[in-house]
Amino acid sequence: MNTYWLYLEPYTMVFSEKEKSLIYNTLSSEYLQIPNSGKAYSILQRILSSPDIYLLKIEEDELFEKEVIAFVKNLQSKFLGEYIACHMTTRKPVILYPKLKLLRSVKNMETMGKDILAYLQKIVIQITGKCTCQCSVCSYAYKQITVCNRLCDKELDLDILLQLITIIRNTSAKSIDIIGGNPFFYSSFEKMLEVIKLTPMLQFNIKCFSEHIITLTDCKVLSLLKNIPNIHLQIQYVGNVFIDYLQELQMRLENCGVRYGIEFLISSEEQYSQAIDICKALSFSQYEMIVLLNEKNMDFAKQMYWDEEDILSLNSSKKDIYRRQSINTFDFGKIIVLANGDVYSNMNFDSLGNIYKEDISAILLKELEEGKSWFRVRNNIPCNDCVYQWFCPSPSNYEIVAGRLNFCSIK
Ligand code: SF4
Ligand code: SF4
Repeated sequence: MNTYWLYLEPYTMVFSEKEKSLIYNTLSSEYLQIPNSGKAYSILQRILSSPDIYLLKIEEDELFEKEVIAFVKNLQSKFLGEYIACHMTTRKPVILYPKLKLLRSVKNMETMGKDILAYLQKIVIQITGKCTCQCSVCSYAYKQITVCNRLCDKELDLDILLQLITIIRNTSAKSIDIIGGNPFFYSSFEKMLEVIKLTPMLQFNIKCFSEHIITLTDCKVLSLLKNIPNIHLQIQYVGNVFIDYLQELQMRLENCGVRYGIEFLISSEEQYSQAIDICKALSFSQYEMIVLLNEKNMDFAKQMYWDEEDILSLNSSKKDIYRRQSINTFDFGKIIVLANGDVYSNMNFDSLGNIYKEDISAILLKELEEGKSWFRVRNNIPCNDCVYQWFCPSPSNYEIVAGRLNFCSIK
């Protein structure tokens, strides 16, 4: 009787939960789901049981059993696996399966620690915490998105700002987000612009609220921005959307010739529709909708929940899956420096240290060693028993704020 090698392709990944298994082609994103019972599952288990390789030696009569060959044909049709008669090959085929090398192992931490600044990717710097607005979102928006806040009423020392920019210039980071308070209240604002002008390799996104622009008594400061190509003004608009207000905002910005985009921080479907209609009416080309959750709009949050189709339509590659297994893709490499010098990797967790007192590398090392943010992955209930554990986006701030560990309609 003939014997065969039955194998999975090296780019195939297998994920199992209590009741089903997902066999996934990381090149084409095709997949097969099977229940964790029956002959197909037992064959899959036997393929997976060889250490390091995806291979099973199988007798002809078992391979051609109705249920087994139907499973194998499914694997073939999605290029997930194949079989070959043993006499057709002189050696046992070696089909190594994809394996993640854990980034947060002690050895890697030592290596990472030496060159930790190289991991900096996203930097948010609050230049001042001063602001005279009284927004209701001030007490919670900063826990969800990059936005101004009044957590301290200090100003960042200009020398510290310069030091930070010099450090960041030598990392892989391409841009810096500048926030307030009201950034236009920063007493060294013009000096900061001079420094930005001399740092063309970095993009500076100055984020402010629309109210900061509308209440400017003198628009001279906006005109200063227009001659600096590496500055982009990102205006955040919160609450119900009014066309007259936005028209005034648009006029001010366009009269000064400044490059800008608008982020609408929306909390309801109504605000979403208003914003879309007004952007069309005013021909805004650069705008984004960002959801802001609060205690009253958790029903609106449900619209953000994803389902199986959404997850699988992400077409995750092997690299995407590995990244989600090892780091939080939203937070990894990110720091927020407040105007009082406190440094955070995520505003929902404790400060890692203070830039006035400690070296930035030492502060970042704390995130590597004991931080909760950069390596926050889906390894908790209910995600740790779900086949989509590494297909779903990394846990976001919305999940922390909503007190849910999953933003899906699956579990
Ligand atoms: S504009 Fe920003 S800093 Fe000022 S009150 Fe509103 S949210 Fe807070
Ligand atoms: S969020 Fe968690 S429970 Fe929901 S599909 Fe993703 S991994 Fe599964």
